[in-house]
Amino acid sequence: KGRNQRQRLPVVPQGIERDVFMQALSELKDELGEENVEINDKPLVDGWYMEHPNTHDMMTILDEEELVASAVVYPGSVEEVQKIVAWANKYLVPIFPISMGRNLGYGGAAPRVRGSVTIDLGRRMNKIIDINPEDYTCLVEPGVSFYALYEALKERGYDHMWVDTPDLGGGSIIGNTVDRGVGYTPYGDHWACHSGMEVVLPTGEVIRTGMGGLPGNNTWQCFPYGFGPYSDGIFSQSNFGIVTKMGMTLMPNPGGYESFMYTFPREEDLAPLIEIIRPLRIAQILENVAQLRHVAQSVAVLGRPRSEFYTGSGPVPFSILHEAASKSPIGDHTWAYYGMSYGPPEIRAHKLALVDSSFRKIPGARKIDPSTLPADDYFFSRDKIAAGIPDIHELRWVNWTPNGSHIAFSPVSPIRGTDATALFKLGKELHDKYNIDFFPAFIVGLREMHLIVEIVFDRANQTKKKEALDCLRELVHEAAKLGYGEYRTHLVLMDQVAGTYSWNEGAVGKFNEKLKDALDPNSILAPGRCGIWGRRYRGRGWEM
Ligand code: FAD
Repeated sequence: KGRNQRQRLPVVPQGIERDVFMQALSELKDELGEENVEINDKPLVDGWYMEHPNTHDMMTILDEEELVASAVVYPGSVEEVQKIVAWANKYLVPIFPISMGRNLGYGGAAPRVRGSVTIDLGRRMNKIIDINPEDYTCLVEPGVSFYALYEALKERGYDHMWVDTPDLGGGSIIGNTVDRGVGYTPYGDHWACHSGMEVVLPTGEVIRTGMGGLPGNNTWQCFPYGFGPYSDGIFSQSNFGIVTKMGMTLMPNPGGYESFMYTFPREEDLAPLIEIIRPLRIAQILENVAQLRHVAQSVAVLGRPRSEFYTGSGPVPFSILHEAASKSPIGDHTWAYYGMSYGPPEIRAHKLALVDSSFRKIPGARKIDPSTLPADDYFFSRDKIAAGIPDIHELRWVNWTPNGSHIAFSPVSPIRGTDATALFKLGKELHDKYNIDFFPAFIVGLREMHLIVEIVFDRANQTKKKEALDCLRELVHEAAKLGYGEYRTHLVLMDQVAGTYSWNEGAVGKFNEKLKDALDPNSILAPGRCGIWGRRYRGRGWEM
């Protein structure tokens, strides 16, 4: 506490003299205005989800001083982003763009290289530039959150269009989409639903992708591809450009919806259930990106600390989890499936009947009647999210430990029982080995599923942090041996995960390096993000 009360000496990017750096920052203040360049010399305050820091990861798995920014800058326009890029090239300063910095579980607002200058795009560039009620599209800046877009649709009376939101609605539409995040309506694959980007390149030029390249076009948000190579892909999960505008498609209001929840009694029901889910999901009888959650999560999302249920050191025993869940809808069962059917009642009836007869093939399957649930049950949060209404109920499981923080293991697999079982078994064994509670949720996309396992840890406890990181590293390693790779990862694991994509002597990594050196000859933009290091950093021991 004492340390936090003192002013901190700001971190300076490696390889730059402190005086030169301070001089460079005052030059940047002249360009952007004094108030738009903030040196990070204040105590590192973690805050919480709605008041999160932009200088570091509020849920850090390393020492809190490891991945911190030296300064944060607030551009107010594309031209100012270009000025920052030109400045970074002049002084060889690493810069790290964030849209809003709520990338919790994957590094929050932290830069990958200590002492980078964070570009907080969202603070001032937060306009909804356009909502097109005929084409069902919009064009947004980095600071537009899912909440803000949802509110704007309501204010303008556009009830015929829906937003798709992740489990928490406070994130940036651009930030989430460039990290290839997911939501839970049929438009849940955000990357697949975007159309058109404006990007400032690391050398300062601005490009528009897709139809945006054609002056006077009216199709930028309708047709994502344009002509020639489809370049958008290289601006997601990379460090090749700074996205200043993005188009997003909006879902038509389906004219009615109905959430449903089924529970299944045994852990071994996982494989047959996933086999039932696959054809229904591919045929879009199961229409949304649904979640199959383990009883451990049903208990955690009650928002009560683990110490209320169990004070032993190892993972909470299964019997105690069931006892803790006895008053929640999952009761004595092990798996809960949350889904939604869309359309007017007569359209829903057929799909719901098919789902019902299919799910009931699992002996003991139970359909939960929502009218029996209290108003604050988690079911109603899933109900909102699957209808595109942003919420923050999901945050409750972070209370599982004191100083609750989390970090994710997120492998992808086909929607197959054997894959689900293999990943579940691996996750369970390694969580047991490292004394960690296991919270698996299968998030079912169209032909694949993400297994999202959040390790919840106390960020004030060094032993717990080490166990969590060791567990994750082993999970990534062992999953790769079985042929499973992550869809997205935390800053700290990016080198390791990139390394697992090693086919043909790491050909894809070498290709990324070639692109990086061509687009960013001074290696200034987000060095190391997603395991891609420019030539000024390569082979100098930056990887972790
Ligand atoms: P940012 O933090 O702004 O961006 C993410 C990263 O993308 C940045 O670090 C940066 O490297 C890059 N980036 C951002 N903007 C730009 C830009 N303009 N140009 C170039 N690069 C850029 N996530 C999901 O996807 N689905 C979920 O259901 C979900 N559930 C969650 C539940 C809980 C309880 C918590 C705590 C987190 C959850 N998350 C989920 C993770 C995370 O909160 C969201 O993905 C969130 O939207 C990401 O933060 P952000 O939008 O502020 O993005």
